[in-house]
Amino acid sequence: MLYDVAIIGGGPSGAVAAEILAKAGHSTILVERNLSNVKPCGGAIPLGLIEEFQIPDELVEKKLTRMSVRSPKGQTIFMHMPNGYVGMVRRERFDRYLREKAQKAGAEVVEALAKKIDRSADRFTIHLFNKEGNELPPVEASFVIGADGANSKTADELGFPPNDLKVIAMQQRFHYCEALKPYEELVEIWFDGEVSPDFYGWIFPKTDHIAIGTGTEEHRNDVKQLQRRFVEKIGITEKPYLNEAAKIPMKPRRSFSQERAILVGDAAGLVTPANGEGIFFAMRSGKLGAEAMIERIRNKTPLASYEKEFRKLYSPIFFGLKVLQSVYYKSDRLRESFVAICRDKHVQEITFDSYLYKKMVPAPWSVQMKIMAKNVYHLAKGS
Ligand SMILES: Cc1cc2nc3c(=O)[nH]c(=O)nc-3n(C[C@H](O)[C@H](O)[C@H](O)COP(=O)(O)OP(=O)(O)OC[C@H]3O[C@@H](n4cnc5c(N)ncnc54)[C@H](O)[C@@H]3O)c2cc1C
Repeated sequence: MLYDVAIIGGGPSGAVAAEILAKAGHSTILVERNLSNVKPCGGAIPLGLIEEFQIPDELVEKKLTRMSVRSPKGQTIFMHMPNGYVGMVRRERFDRYLREKAQKAGAEVVEALAKKIDRSADRFTIHLFNKEGNELPPVEASFVIGADGANSKTADELGFPPNDLKVIAMQQRFHYCEALKPYEELVEIWFDGEVSPDFYGWIFPKTDHIAIGTGTEEHRNDVKQLQRRFVEKIGITEKPYLNEAAKIPMKPRRSFSQERAILVGDAAGLVTPANGEGIFFAMRSGKLGAEAMIERIRNKTPLASYEKEFRKLYSPIFFGLKVLQSVYYKSDRLRESFVAICRDKHVQEITFDSYLYKKMVPAPWSVQMKIMAKNVYHLAKGS
């Protein structure tokens, strides 16, 4: 059979794309190497995503309106989100739910590893292997979507430019204990060089456990050592029941669309700098990519329109967060300043609004001037 579209990777980006294509009546196959995959991930998602993709309540384990940021010297700023919340999901449940939705819409879901892709004038031939390493019959499709994460095999096979900047992130899951009691209903972010010299540490509560993790640019530092120090500084003496680690690609590839193939989510490098947020952009790119694919099949509109649209919508956010990371994540003195600025109510409002709905609404001039003055003051003072 010749499928209209083959999607490699059944995480949030691939599952969303599969559902939309199948719903539109296009024959779609979703190839996932491990249907029981537990993606290493904090599982923090914004309210805007929950609303847009109608994520059911039973998947959102916590709806957290309280957040704190902690500086290297231990200065902690508590904040409250008056108009929304950060949702906490568990990726093993979340991804399965999205794949099942795609399946219900008519997509064929298969468990197989895609190892090689051949391209001819009118089709792709995807070579698949099962868990035992045996070759399965190949799949043929007119179009391909690479949704296979940071180390995308699809991107390599189809000759896309590399995923340049990768952070290696480690996370441990702990059962609730005395040291973790204060975090049961609180998201806490640590800006501290001992925990991460170029990213941050996070404490994310779930129903029956707390996920604690940190990240650093690949090959720069020993992430295990940073994580050990983080856990020690929080004061946890209990052992974690799960250790997980994976790469986070925080820079969009130079190009992620071709004539008959596109990349979505982590495969395209669509995780924002500074905060490492990827689930929203994975699902949004899966949706935009699938919509562009439908237009391509029906009206021969170039797939480049997908990449153009994504960049138009989100480049300002990627740019703003990149500037923030390159200014404030460089030293403990600057991290101290950053946390001090978070005390400002307007800074908090702007941060929450842009996180929850990914809208960059400029603050009034008077507020911008006030924030700028505070920035200069704290940068000069260093605290
Ligand atoms: C430790 C950590 C914490 C994070 N915390 C957060 C957070 O709190 N909030 C947030 O928004 N983002 C977070 N992220 C980022 C987020 O997890 C990713 O951006 C998101 O999962 C991207 O979704 P995706 O569908 O593009 O890729 P993935 O979720 O990586 O899915 C790719 C899928 O492809 C499959 N696959 C790979 N290769 C093949 C192949 N050759 N053949 C078949 N299948 C294949 C994999 O098994 C996987 O299921 C975190 C990342 C890490 C590492």
